[in-house]
Amino acid sequence: HLPTAELQALDAAHHMHPFTDSNALAAKGARVITGAKGVHLRDSDGQEIMDCMAGLWCVNIGYGRDSIAEVARRQLLELPYYNTFFQTTHVPAIALAEKVTSLAPDHMNHVFFAAGGSDANDTNIRLVRHYWALKGKPEKQVIISRKNAYHGSTVGAASLGGMQAMHGQGTLPIPGVVHINQPHWYLEGGDMTPEEFGLQRARELEKKIAELGEDNVAAFIAEPIQGAGGVIIPPSTYWPEIQRICDAHEILLIADEVICGFGRTGNMWGSDTFSIRPDIMTIAKGLSSGYAPIGGSILSDEVFDVMATDEFYHGYTYSGHPMSCAVALENLRILEEENLIGNVRDVTAPYLAEKWAGLGEHPLVGEARICGLVGALQLTPDKASRAAFAEGPGNVGVIARDLCFEDNFIMRHVGDQLIISPPLIFSKENIDTLAEKAWKVLDKTMASATE
Ligand code: PLP
Repeated sequence: HLPTAELQALDAAHHMHPFTDSNALAAKGARVITGAKGVHLRDSDGQEIMDCMAGLWCVNIGYGRDSIAEVARRQLLELPYYNTFFQTTHVPAIALAEKVTSLAPDHMNHVFFAAGGSDANDTNIRLVRHYWALKGKPEKQVIISRKNAYHGSTVGAASLGGMQAMHGQGTLPIPGVVHINQPHWYLEGGDMTPEEFGLQRARELEKKIAELGEDNVAAFIAEPIQGAGGVIIPPSTYWPEIQRICDAHEILLIADEVICGFGRTGNMWGSDTFSIRPDIMTIAKGLSSGYAPIGGSILSDEVFDVMATDEFYHGYTYSGHPMSCAVALENLRILEEENLIGNVRDVTAPYLAEKWAGLGEHPLVGEARICGLVGALQLTPDKASRAAFAEGPGNVGVIARDLCFEDNFIMRHVGDQLIISPPLIFSKENIDTLAEKAWKVLDKTMASATE
């Protein structure tokens, strides 16, 4: 390929990146990733980078799997494309639908495919509203979501999301989507115990339902663990209370499993980890480990049976794309054959939790949150008061994230939070390296934050 500087110049000239400050990127030059194997990326200068984010929380089986490439090739030769609209179907979609629903909770036996998480959540908006109309309650239209949530970037999904910066662009949210607070105990829990706070935050849902009138509320959507919002692991009291409220007020519960699904928390679903009984689950990312674009909505029998009484005028050209389905199937085969989730639960997660607690001892770290293989280090200027740093370009999170990148390992930052979500194949040795490097980055970040 071309020399790095030339690639960077072409990239800056023609390629508009997602979620990127184009001017800052052009000044610096994007790092050009040219290959990957296992948990490591390689850049155009031949440097090796340890990926502690599994790409965008998705490459669960790790990079460079030959069998996935073979399956994709075979499928592209046999049937590169056909749709599942009207009266046709194909073998990869049938096989994947059967497989995915066999992994889902017992009451969920139907899946609608999309090309990713955003369009799956857009499906959910239309679907839950139409569901209630079919049940003779057309006024049940409002969807309650949470501040700081991330459910995708399309107009509908970004409306469900609770990111203020996104709502400020494009006049969002769409009508009929409202937000309640998230259960971020560290920053917002005050003098309450996490358990008291979890209950209080869950009960905001009940208050919001009362305010809107339960006859107007269609659904509540949430990630079992809020991911891009900062890996907010809810207190133990939160989800049982949310479940009680949804059941009591006849509100559909949508668990956005795009990050948590397929093993991230040490169980197949985040819903298993938190004992949630969803009516709908959004899936993407780990479904194919990012090897091909695919997502979807898994529906309970109850929701599907109602939807099946009418034709749903909804679908994507790439709903159930044959190659993506074949790739996803192979990914799930690897996940099971290598017992990756069991290994996370029994071996890597406990080891990571120990090392993570060690990082929690660093003077810059107020809280070291971890669940399975997803975690955050909450950076603080004052552990005693659980204070936050000022937001902005010079924020400690940005400094720390950049230092990680310079030292050839990737952690992500959200405000004051440094985040990891490594491939599920992450080894104890990888964890040792991460812990060692992260401690040094925290030291350097502290030095520059107090300069
Ligand atoms: N839902 C959650 C919880 C996510 O984290 C994401 C992406 O990060 C999405 C939905 C959107 O998925 P996609 O980027 O595949 O559209």
